[in-house]
Amino acid sequence: MRGGRVWDVIVVGAGFAGVYSVYKLRRMGFSVQAFEAGGDVGGTWYWNRYPGCRCDIESIYYSYQFDDDLQQEWEWTERYASQPEIQSYISHVADRFDLRRDIRFNTRVTAARFEEASGDAPSHWTVTTDDGKTCKARFCVMASGVLSTPSLPDIPGRNTFAGKSYHTGRWPHEEVDFTGLKVAVIGTGSSGIQSIPLIAEQAEHVTVFQRTPNYAVPAGNRPLDPHELSEVKSRYGEIRAASKKGFTALPFKPAGRSALAVSDREREEVYEQWWRDHGLAFQGAFADLLFDAEANRTAADFVRRKIRELVDDEKLAELLTPDFALGCRRMCVDTDYYPTYNRENVTLVDIRREPIESIVPGGIRVGGTLHAVDAIVFATGYDAITGALLAMDPSGRNGLSLREKWAQGPRAYLGLATHGFPNLFMVNGPGSPSVLINMVTGIEQHVDWIADCMVHIRDRGLSAIEAMAQSEDEWAVHNDEVAQKSIRGDCASWYTGANIPGKPGGFLPYVGGFPAYVKRCEQVVEEGYAGFALT
Ligand code: NAP
Repeated sequence: MRGGRVWDVIVVGAGFAGVYSVYKLRRMGFSVQAFEAGGDVGGTWYWNRYPGCRCDIESIYYSYQFDDDLQQEWEWTERYASQPEIQSYISHVADRFDLRRDIRFNTRVTAARFEEASGDAPSHWTVTTDDGKTCKARFCVMASGVLSTPSLPDIPGRNTFAGKSYHTGRWPHEEVDFTGLKVAVIGTGSSGIQSIPLIAEQAEHVTVFQRTPNYAVPAGNRPLDPHELSEVKSRYGEIRAASKKGFTALPFKPAGRSALAVSDREREEVYEQWWRDHGLAFQGAFADLLFDAEANRTAADFVRRKIRELVDDEKLAELLTPDFALGCRRMCVDTDYYPTYNRENVTLVDIRREPIESIVPGGIRVGGTLHAVDAIVFATGYDAITGALLAMDPSGRNGLSLREKWAQGPRAYLGLATHGFPNLFMVNGPGSPSVLINMVTGIEQHVDWIADCMVHIRDRGLSAIEAMAQSEDEWAVHNDEVAQKSIRGDCASWYTGANIPGKPGGFLPYVGGFPAYVKRCEQVVEEGYAGFALT
């Protein structure tokens, strides 16, 4: 073929998904070229360096399991790893397996185009990067992240602000010092809830602009006792096997009981214990919290009572109290979030009914009142799950644009591939469990499936695999049905694309749980890649 080397696989992104893709595909004998917009591996963990940034899945689970030596040698120091520790971990993985040589950093993929076979040249993908270069490969793996495209709200006057402004998902690498400054934080999702308490400790004053309050449960973070870590390591295989059976790819046995089947006293004791010990898993304290509105209300009421206990000012507590079902929007895990509102230097501005009017050079205007600030932190979230894919707008067979194809909402068979885009795979694409499970375990499962599929194609002398339109439609219908059964489908949130103006609705991740999803992926393979066309 004219026009330079054709790689076996192009991998877009070098976060947890891209790094493992490079490792796995190389091991399976494929030549791989990866591209990463950031200056190093890490993906979302590379960019999110805001104060308090930390994972809300325990470090012993939020880590790779593909290599036992790796999991035995790495020493997690805290129950929930901080961003710097996760960054060191993923960097260690890249060094240990010599992965950096296949990754071009500081290089953003801006376009991807499928080229049909012509003459002797087989079909291939051509990607274009922001340095104006192109690269070709038989397969393309989009490991571009699900929470990697920051969303900056289009508030009038945003660019006129005279002070410094930051997005939590694009935090500077150099230290940001808020000492002596009046700081605005817009947004009270996980990123806002983690950063507000620490910014408040440093800044002269923090004004939080809250549109929707969220449920936050205490992280209960602590140093990991070395004995505890050795004990985990001594039975890591068993723990990982149990995780794969868990609904969220975590090794927790499902609570067998309904919240409505126990006495008020017992229910309260269970909630107290889960509030104290289990962080995000609080929503699994009873079997039906995510499926039964009445059961859910008991948990929501418990957290609402906690908020009233933790926040001294009654009116403030009321404003911080969510009125929707617990777990319907992504729950947050906090350290000292609610008590932060008892500090004299923290003010909450409720913008639910009266949105931000404008940003002016000296601050933020709401309802005719100017809140004077020196710096603004946008903790305003992401164009989740589809944002990074659509930013590249891959074009498939006959020039079909992904943006056009997904104009009414995304369709992807198993969240892995989409009709019209042969040999293009997505890691954690729409319709995969992705953000609803332990992402690292989900990523390993996805990448293993994709790598096995490529081996299947190579070993049989085939040229392409493509999801059939009917199979992705059926998968979308199934996904909707499962979402309807869960209370997760009841709220407008980033799970449904509601945080991005104009984004089509529909529940983006697969809600049926990790084991059901894996079973379906395996079944598809056993049936000769049922639902895919192999040519
Ligand atoms: P998010 O959950 O989408 O929260 C964004 C916040 O910004 C919301 O409070 C939203 O209000 C507000 N907002 C957006 N546009 C606004 C506007 N125009 N005016 C005023 N407020 C506006 O984003 P995130 O906090 O970055 O978290 C995203 C996800 O990343 C999390 O749910 C989680 O999955 C992941 N994450 C995880 C961790 C962790 O592991 N601990 C930490 C951070 C993030 P509305 O709700 O009213 O739209």
